[in-house]
Amino acid sequence: MRILILGGTTQASQLARALAGRDDVSPILSLAGRTQNPLPVPIPSRIGGFGGVDGLVAFLRAEKIDLVVDATHPFAAQMSAHACAACQRAKIPLLVFSRPAWTPGEGDQWTEVADMEAAVAALGATPRRVFLTQGRLQLAAFAAAPQHFYLVRAIDEPAELALLPRHKFVSARGPFALEDELALMRDENIACLVTKNSGGEATSAKLLAARILGVPVVVVARPPGGDAEQASRLAEVLHWLEAHRPTP
Ligand code: NAP
Repeated sequence: MRILILGGTTQASQLARALAGRDDVSPILSLAGRTQNPLPVPIPSRIGGFGGVDGLVAFLRAEKIDLVVDATHPFAAQMSAHACAACQRAKIPLLVFSRPAWTPGEGDQWTEVADMEAAVAALGATPRRVFLTQGRLQLAAFAAAPQHFYLVRAIDEPAELALLPRHKFVSARGPFALEDELALMRDENIACLVTKNSGGEATSAKLLAARILGVPVVVVARPPGGDAEQASRLAEVLHWLEAHRPTP
């Protein structure tokens, strides 16, 4: 059973580890190539875009892919839309494996917004010390509010940092522990946190830290998903793979 995993997330790595070493499956992990030094994976992998829907259809056929698991980040909307279209065209079953969205709990001060431009507007006119955790993508939007100081955390240093007159960059890769998030936010005197609603446990400690410290959070909502089948737990994915095993 030839399985294409669209990755770039902890879900994709988790699935890759679960399938590694099995002789009844032949998985391949695909990464966009955004991170300079991706973590090693125990299955074959490829890096780089496919060249749109047509390129992905050609890849699925050339590699004789039986099943596709879209384990891209919930905000990787273009790749997910391409996967949906390509799998429909190639008549290959597709499953979306994604973590559930975060929801606010008691004591949280969340402002939920539709996109990064709305997140910038939600910071207001008065200068604040803002912790940006959305990674490299869409950092440029914050150039529209140069009055704020930005603590920017990402894996690789973004070129767009130069657009922010007052900033500090922290290079780090999750998972993040609560005590480290508390220390960072206290040390940097953070007054507001901005995050995408990525979901998952690896990066949720910042939300708890914000609750404990009474720091308001601007949360960017997820883009709408497609109509492919969805799973949020590894066991469901493994079950789906077995249920869709092609008959010899
Ligand atoms: P995107 O906007 O949905 O995709 C842009 C293009 O990048 C796609 O059309 C595709 O190029 C290529 N691409 C994306 N994911 C790919 C994959 N797994 N394998 C091969 N090509 C891929 O994606 P994005 O938001 O830039 O995210 C890029 C990668 O970073 C994804 O793997 C995603 O899981 C990961 N990531 C994203 C975020 C986020 O917030 N967006 C956060 C953490 C990790 P072609 O059209 O040429 O095929």
